[in-house]
Amino acid sequence: MNGYRDLRVALLGGGSVGAQVARLLLEQGDELAARVGARLQLIGIAVRDLDAKRDVELPRELLTTDAEQLVLGADIVIELMGGIEPARTLILRAIEGGADVVTANKALIASHGAELAEAAEQVGAQLSYEAAVAGAIPIIRPLRESLAGDHITRVMGIVNGSTNYILDRMDRFGDSAEDAMRVASELGYLEADPTLDVEGYDAAQKATILASIAFHSEVPVEAVYREGITEVTLSQIEAAAQAGYVIKLLAIAERVQTADGSFGVSARVYPALISRMHPLAAVHGGKNAVFVEAEAAGELMFYGAGAGGVETASAVLGDVVSAARRHVVGGPGIPGSSHADLPILPIGEVLTRYQIMLRVHDETGALAAIAGLLAERGVGAASVVQSMPEDLDLAAVDAAEGTATLVIGTHTAREADLAATVQALRESSVVAEVTSVLRLEGNQ
Ligand code: NAP
Repeated sequence: MNGYRDLRVALLGGGSVGAQVARLLLEQGDELAARVGARLQLIGIAVRDLDAKRDVELPRELLTTDAEQLVLGADIVIELMGGIEPARTLILRAIEGGADVVTANKALIASHGAELAEAAEQVGAQLSYEAAVAGAIPIIRPLRESLAGDHITRVMGIVNGSTNYILDRMDRFGDSAEDAMRVASELGYLEADPTLDVEGYDAAQKATILASIAFHSEVPVEAVYREGITEVTLSQIEAAAQAGYVIKLLAIAERVQTADGSFGVSARVYPALISRMHPLAAVHGGKNAVFVEAEAAGELMFYGAGAGGVETASAVLGDVVSAARRHVVGGPGIPGSSHADLPILPIGEVLTRYQIMLRVHDETGALAAIAGLLAERGVGAASVVQSMPEDLDLAAVDAAEGTATLVIGTHTAREADLAATVQALRESSVVAEVTSVLRLEGNQ
């Protein structure tokens, strides 16, 4: 287009997201040129198989299997191949060659983000990865830039659409876990191997990224405490609903004050109860949301599509436009920030609340014994309810075995003390069975 210089854009990957990015770059070339002040010239698309069938027809002359050659001489490299290698090496090559890099690769950023950020900083290049967490939802830029003048205290996200879809079906339609998984699989919410999603690995990668940015510290993915949703049962979900809660798989990044008064970062993923009044409770189906608490801004919520080719392409293109504008005006990219260098706290140091459901032998002194077990470990009971008249199965078990079902909601306590309390309850002679232990999150 008249008067615009060209910026050479190399695309690595032409799959679900890559093909949509290519389509938008080609279809919206004039508009993007006007926004950027330079024309984004797509110089090639690296794929594995030139003849693979694609959702979007891509110009054959742009396809190549030589990704290494493609990154040489590009001004902006968009990595949408996924996986660690060769993506990592190609990104490092691109940065060495002076290119800005945009990626949606959460696995790579979670495991090698610090290395890539350092390489980019050394040459003043920009490394952007808005699409790596929660797909289309703008959350990286708000945390990195919009909230850069505030103190973030906690980030709590539903960042895995597949598991949210499964839990939501169980909650809203009464599906068993197996049925909900089957439907999720049929509708394409789950990979052939669902482990990454249902065991919480995908959410843990996103928790790493969120925690590192929010707290200006390096948070390795191995330091994220992780539990998936495979142990969550329909009875837990029904009991939660009766008590006004919903169970969500949460990725939590939090600044925590330790017993000695210093601060650390906790990053964790687990299924937890949240009040049905909490904004995250309204996140249904495969949608994602991230709830942010900051000292000055208060509570913020970012909601939308956490996946999908074209949705994710929106976030990728936002990063591309931003990188391209920087090329036009000049100056170094915004470096990553790990200046706070807070220690990463083990799960035992975290403050949380538990809801413990247990069957106790229906005998004199049982309640006092249980109260004693809690008190010895400094755990306060916020509520003790004898349950659940609506649950006929539970009532029948209790009647047959001479037990009573209790639901204990604790006050906030250190995770290590809560876990020790549960262990003591399991070993107590007045307790027939601890049937459910869930954490309770959110202030509402
Ligand atoms: P995809 O559909 O599997 O596409 C991957 C593309 O990369 C394919 O075009 C593939 O080529 C190409 N590729 C893979 N390895 C290659 C290699 N060694 N050399 C050259 N080309 C190679 O993946 P996607 O769903 O678009 O995801 C891309 C990235 O975005 C991933 O990091 C993913 O985590 C992230 N992401 C995806 C979503 C989403 O909704 N899909 C959301 C957020 C983030 P062929 O086509 O020839 O096989």
